[in-house]
Amino acid sequence: MVSARSSGRNHQVTLPVLNRRAEAILKARPAYREMVDFYLTVFRCQIEWRAKLAVHPEEVETTQARECWRRGTPLVERYDPGLDAESLLHLWLEMKGVFGRGNEVLQQAVEKIEGAEAAGTFTPAAWLLEQRPGRSELITGAAGEIEVDETILATLARAVTFPHWEAVADYWLALTDLADWKGSHCPVCGSPPGLSETRGERATSAEIKPATKRFLHCPFCGTQWPFPPLECPACGSTKPGDAKYLFTREEPELRVDFCRHCCRYLKAVDGDKIPGTIHVGLELLTTAHLDALAQDKQLSPLEF
Ligand SMILES: [Zn+2]
Ligand SMILES: [Zn+2]
Repeated sequence: MVSARSSGRNHQVTLPVLNRRAEAILKARPAYREMVDFYLTVFRCQIEWRAKLAVHPEEVETTQARECWRRGTPLVERYDPGLDAESLLHLWLEMKGVFGRGNEVLQQAVEKIEGAEAAGTFTPAAWLLEQRPGRSELITGAAGEIEVDETILATLARAVTFPHWEAVADYWLALTDLADWKGSHCPVCGSPPGLSETRGERATSAEIKPATKRFLHCPFCGTQWPFPPLECPACGSTKPGDAKYLFTREEPELRVDFCRHCCRYLKAVDGDKIPGTIHVGLELLTTAHLDALAQDKQLSPLEF
């Protein structure tokens, strides 16, 4: 069994930094208060749960993992993530409690879900075990059957699956490195990236301009991986002038990166302006105005 204690991430230390980021978001956009409070509540619950969380990922052999990545295959297609139904179910019950103490809309959704569970028409453990990037039909189907809002059900599912998949990713990535991965989808679970991050490198005396590094972040398992700064993650264009971006003056740390060739966009953060770890969930929940900005320009979100 792999406990999340063995992971390289220290979530207790990140909490004060996360709170500072939450305050900065609210200062710029007070309308996101409910979203920010919700994310912080879910995140604290996930931290408390970490010591009890169980996953049993299959051992990854370094040479074979590299071979997988050279062929562009995410590890989940080759190795068993070893998800634990009981662990998923326990966190589901915990998260359902968190949602049930939320606003009226969340409470009503939880009541409907509980009704379906009691009637035996919905089995969360089996359903959670099957969750994968690209299997949105699992969410859509269950939401239709239970008659509950799809976004709420998806958020509840992700709150439960994310820490489990994050522990799988931590375990697998501790055994190998990402040098052979060139894809724009997640090297662990195969999800399209949810967010892009740029970070400036310290300039050396030999360079006129310091280089910029770019990392893509997975919304499903929390993995981040390097990707060329000017390549389009959707169509692969590297043509000069295709990589463009939109931004607002009030939030210089946020951008919408888009491609003039395929008209796809990906929200982006400036890692040098945001302290500590980037919380992809928090950034995605509080940047709906960037989606509106992009969609006003007839751009579509990145998907594969
Ligand atoms: Zn992933
Ligand atoms: Zn493109």
